[in-house]
Amino acid sequence: MEDPRAALGEALAAVADTLRHHRDVGLKEIAWSRPEPPDAAQGLRAQERALQGCTRCKLSGSRSTVVFGSGNPNARLVVIGEGPGEEEDKQGKPFVGRAGQLLTKMLASVHFDRERDCYICNVVKCRPEKNRNPEPDEVAACNPFLLAQLDTIQPAVILALGNFAAQTLLGTKDGITKLRGRAYFYRDIVLVPTFHPAFLLRNPGDQYKRMAWDDLKLARREWERLTTPSPQPSPVNPLP
Ligand code: URA
Repeated sequence: MEDPRAALGEALAAVADTLRHHRDVGLKEIAWSRPEPPDAAQGLRAQERALQGCTRCKLSGSRSTVVFGSGNPNARLVVIGEGPGEEEDKQGKPFVGRAGQLLTKMLASVHFDRERDCYICNVVKCRPEKNRNPEPDEVAACNPFLLAQLDTIQPAVILALGNFAAQTLLGTKDGITKLRGRAYFYRDIVLVPTFHPAFLLRNPGDQYKRMAWDDLKLARREWERLTTPSPQPSPVNPLP
């Protein structure tokens, strides 16, 4: 069983993140009751606008474009990668290079259409130079924006792509080979980690492809379980 002090610490850290984000976007009051969910597309547009010209971390010095995210704001599946690459930095859209083309096929292999069924974004919204891993201060600076995206979209399932996204979201140093193959909770969202499509391009053997497909099938099953309304009990008991 999880250490309750660690669980409380994590919960408080999440609250602190949310409050910092609220402060950053200019909110002056705390709503104690859960507000009506705002229109997700509108919420994401406002967040994207608030990020334009962001200089909260040193990635701002070398990026061309803030790559906020793309897809369906009402999707129940959010796909999270590491950070934009060269092509994404040019086009302002996540996963549009070679890895993105493979991601589109991976999603389609379990009948997810990337535009209709998914919202796709990254842990950091600006390209790290030479595609290096984002650094902890860069992740911390961008984290409120990822949290705001998730709060707005309220997905049922997250597909975390690769070591970096999975480790960051799950707060662990375990590698993707160890983490993949099962589902976790990230806050109240089911998280399925799998290989990054760029890794699959570098390692084209069947072994990794098969494991990735198992993960995608798991994500699909979880998505179906969580998004299919359970049959309502009949309001009238049938006569014996
Ligand atoms: N790799 C990522 O992690 N994200 C992208 O958007 C593109 C490549």
